Amino acid sequence: MKKGGKLIVFSAPSGSGKTTIVRHLLKIEALNLEFSVSATSRAPRGEEAHGKDYYFLTLKDFKQKMKSEEFLEWEEVYRDNFYGTLYSEVERIWEMGKNVIFDIDVVGGLRIKKKYPERTLAVFIKPPSVEELKKRLKKRSTESDEKINMRIAKASVEMATAPQFDFIIENDHLEHALDEAEKLVSEHIAKPIFKDVTEEE
Ligand code: 5GP
Repeated sequence: MKKGGKLIVFSAPSGSGKTTIVRHLLKIEALNLEFSVSATSRAPRGEEAHGKDYYFLTLKDFKQKMKSEEFLEWEEVYRDNFYGTLYSEVERIWEMGKNVIFDIDVVGGLRIKKKYPERTLAVFIKPPSVEELKKRLKKRSTESDEKINMRIAKASVEMATAPQFDFIIENDHLEHALDEAEKLVSEHIAKPIFKDVTEEE
């Protein structure tokens, strides 16, 4: 992949508020961020739009892109629901002269950090509790109970990966979480990049 800007990863169990944090950061012009639109094989939810929230692909198209190695990382986050970051997406953003911000699952987030250790800031957003997570997912009410339970079961596994991230933000007070996220990202962006040792040329 061609050289470019910084990579900022926000990972967390779904319902922990990471999307709210990412949206807030995207509004801050000085951070020069652009959202990495992931590809997924899941169906659109609510008002989600193709090319804005996700690139919605059929399972067949997704698997074809896996085979032709078009993904920087991909994950079967839930059974038959694949999610992944296309190299072309990161290159599109770097060509705009911007830094990339990702809202992805913990495994994918850590994979990007491992691939580009120096240019990546990996932040884990910790929800106050599993109970609170349940409440937030129910309030969102775009999904069936079965799907919500599936997300909650996954949350405790995801929580265990938190220590592998560069920073953990506890999202019990949204205002604090937003300030902390802004500070971390702005410090990371100000740092020079030397060489990412595992980076491909
Ligand atoms: P949702 O279905 O709620 O939009 O996303 C489910 C999970 O998939 C979330 O944890 C989300 O962060 C994650 N996800 C979204 N895009 C990607 C991606 O490109 N790669 C990986 N590994 N996970 C992703």
